[in-house]
Parts: sequence; C-alpha cells; structure tokens
Amino acid sequence: MSPITSLCVYCGSSRGVNPDFIPLARELGRELATRNIRLVYGGGRVGLMGACADGVMAHGGRVFGVIPQHLQDREVGHSGISELKVVDNMHTRKRMMFDHSDAFCVLPGGLGTLEEFFEVVTWRQLGMHDKPIIVLNAGGYWDNLVGMIDRIVDDGFAQPSVRQYFSVVNSIGRLFDLLAAPAETQEPDFPDRI
Ligand code: AMP
Repeated sequence: MSPITSLCVYCGSSRGVNPDFIPLARELGRELATRNIRLVYGGGRVGLMGACADGVMAHGGRVFGVIPQHLQDREVGHSGISELKVVDNMHTRKRMMFDHSDAFCVLPGGLGTLEEFFEVVTWRQLGMHDKPIIVLNAGGYWDNLVGMIDRIVDDGFAQPSVRQYFSVVNSIGRLFDLLAAPAETQEPDFPDRI
C-alpha cells in the first residue's frame, strides 16, 4: 500500500463526557499535520470534529471539510480550515468525503458517526472499495460495537469475513502503524482499549 495522503476522520459533533476525548481528537490532528496527511472530515467547528480540525490547523496541516448547507447552523461550519465545501445534502457530503480519502478512522461519536462507519464498512462488504477502516477504541468506547458485530456474525447475519473489513486499535500510534503497513499484514486487532 502506498502511504496515505488524506485520512477521513468520523467522530462526534458533541464533546461527550469523557474528558480524554477532546485532547485525543486534537492529538490526532497534530499527528496528521506532522505527517503531512490531510484531514478530511465533516467540516464542523464543534465537538470532537472541531477539536481534530483545530489540532491540524494549529500545527500547520491541511484540512478539507464538507458540510451540508442545512447543518451549517447546528454543527457550525469551521471558518478556520484550509478548505470548506458547502454542499446541498448529506449524500453529497459523504460521497465527497469518501472520494477525497485514502483511509478512514473512527473516533468516539454518536449516531452520525455510527452511520458513517457502517456506510464505509458495508460499501467495503459489497466490494465497492478496499480502503482501510480503523476504529480508535479510546477508553473501550467502541467495545459494544465490536461485540455487536461479533454477535451478528455468530448469529449468522454476516460472514466472518466482515471482521477483516475494519481494524480496532488502542492508540494513535497503532493507527499510524497500521496505515503504514502493507494491506496483507494488517491483522484485525480488537478489542483494544487506550
Ligand atoms: P454525531 O456522531 O451524531 O455527533 O455525528 C457526527 C457527524 O456525522 C456529524 O457531522 C453528522 O452530521 C454526521 N452524520 C452523517 N450521517 C448522518 C446521519 N444519517 N444522521 C445524522 N448525522 C449524520
């Protein structure tokens, strides 16, 4: 796999209650800037989304945000990023984020984050792409998600191969290790905690 140049980050438009998550999102942003990897995200200035974008911008990196017009009020389009695209609807947003990214990372978040995660995983299940999808299981936040997917497989509603479509890591360091590794050596790695 060639080194990635753009990473799409899906995460909460809220801050959540765990005080570790905002610094984690900022730290991921800083690491992206340091590695000259562009952040692709939903364009908001609030919650973990905003913290990640701020982390990139504070360290001289590049951020491409995509936000639908109707969410400009709720998620507040980030005016301080390299490029903010305002699009007509959610479908265009998600497609544009997908097209501009080489890989996907999932930080803690809510239903929107889950929806985005499942969309790229199910697109991979359908053979529509083979871009890496990595869940950053900070504080065990995504343990129940991984457990539910195991249950789905165990109960015969998905093939065991779905477990190969995404990885679960316990740290930002492991995330970048995995992104740097050739695809064939990328062992699914879960459930881990930070
Ligand atoms: P949340 O995790 O709910 O805070 O949302 C994180 C991001 O996912 C926000 O930018 C939402 O706009 C976005 N999102 C994407 N798809 C959806 C959807 N179908 N419903 C709600 N939010 C969504």
